[in-house]
Amino acid sequence: MNQPVLVLGAGIVGISCALELQKRGYRVTLMDRRGPGEEASSGNAGILSLSNITPLADPALLTRLHRLALNLDTDLLLHYPHLPALLPWLGRFLRRCRRATYLVDGAAMALLTQASMDLHRQWIDEAGLQSLANRGGGLKLYRDRRSFLRDQLERELLERCGVRHTLVDAAQVQDLEPDLNPVFVQGVLIDESISIRDPEKLCKAYAQMFVAAGGQVKQAEIRSIRQSGGGWELSGSPGVVSAERLVVCMGAWTPGLIGQLGYANPLAIERGYHAIAAPAEGRRLSRPIFDVDASYVMAPMEMGLRITTGSNLVRCETRPDPRQLVRVLPRAREAFPIERILTRDPWMGRRPTVPDTLPLIGPAPRHQNLWLAFAHSHMGLTMGPITGVLIANFVGAEPQPFATKAYDPSRYL
Ligand SMILES: Cc1cc2nc3c(=O)[nH]c(=O)nc-3n(C[C@H](O)[C@H](O)[C@H](O)COP(=O)(O)OP(=O)(O)OC[C@H]3O[C@@H](n4cnc5c(N)ncnc54)[C@H](O)[C@@H]3O)c2cc1C
Repeated sequence: MNQPVLVLGAGIVGISCALELQKRGYRVTLMDRRGPGEEASSGNAGILSLSNITPLADPALLTRLHRLALNLDTDLLLHYPHLPALLPWLGRFLRRCRRATYLVDGAAMALLTQASMDLHRQWIDEAGLQSLANRGGGLKLYRDRRSFLRDQLERELLERCGVRHTLVDAAQVQDLEPDLNPVFVQGVLIDESISIRDPEKLCKAYAQMFVAAGGQVKQAEIRSIRQSGGGWELSGSPGVVSAERLVVCMGAWTPGLIGQLGYANPLAIERGYHAIAAPAEGRRLSRPIFDVDASYVMAPMEMGLRITTGSNLVRCETRPDPRQLVRVLPRAREAFPIERILTRDPWMGRRPTVPDTLPLIGPAPRHQNLWLAFAHSHMGLTMGPITGVLIANFVGAEPQPFATKAYDPSRYL
């Protein structure tokens, strides 16, 4: 076939699209202003998660709207000066906080995660990355029984979607993770989740598989786009690049580029932060934990314990505001013996999200030879590979493994 395709953005989503297009015989160039996997795809919690299929628009949120609006809870931090611009997004989001919508959107998430997990397993083996993959599952932990009861709908969703999970009581939590302090009253073990001990390393290794099979990785910062003949002309530094077929996977920055073609910006940016902690001597965490009542994930990684935060809802390009991290670190110390924090400055990443929490994957609604894959919210590391498969099928006009309407970019663009 050997037809050229340019994939713009080399996060996990772009890398996966490049790999899948290459497998179908396209001549693929993967382009980014940075090295592969160095933005959101690098500093995340590293969980290839089967259970995090929960749409953000959870009806249970409505019971604590006042707390969220006043920034009293740690899972969400609003930046008030940016709220007026966010109101249309918030309006659509709040209208989705209904049980039926939640279950439908969650099932659409599950289709992506389950298919993607199989591909990750294959790719991890192909890349020889077995030692980077921790197959011990993940633990969702509750300090307060009321929070556990509040998450009942989430467990119903997991049941409906066939996601294996085991309820564990306080004693079983201690059996699974003996070095945790006894602050948790209830847990849910997600048996088949895999966690990655360094997500950036995973991305770079996948990108290396693409290069080893003849793919090209190029560094360029693209600032503008225009149609040229049947294809595309992109300008930036260095210079002008032409593309017959273009796949845009620029994560949070996608609207900045496709906005030049008249597409509206459908995103809210959920920024997240992380710090790396050293465990106290002789203490060990064997799998990631999500401390629901304190709103952080602690994931054992090669560089130490990575502690990640919830959502800081703010515009894409503003100064970091690590208040959530400041609030969660003492809570993390309550749960696990930490010797010290190793990072001086917090890492910050952007989770671009639309009101239904589902990614936008498919052809651009009003342009030929342009495909989009972005807005993977809090699940892009997991969903990268299946996104690559769907995009490669769209480009080749091949049948899809399941209905893709739920991810159609035209629902927001
Ligand atoms: C704190 C946190 C924890 C998370 N935990 C998890 C988790 O445990 N599991 C999970 O599945 N997901 C998790 N996520 C979400 C996941 O990290 C993202 O969904 C995923 O990385 C998105 O990948 P992407 O390729 O779409 O975007 P990115 O990785 O952001 O890639 C976009 C790329 O576009 C490039 N780019 C942007 N502008 C330009 C330009 N003008 N020219 C050229 N290149 C450009 C960037 O350099 C970047 O490389 C987490 C996210 C955060 C922030």
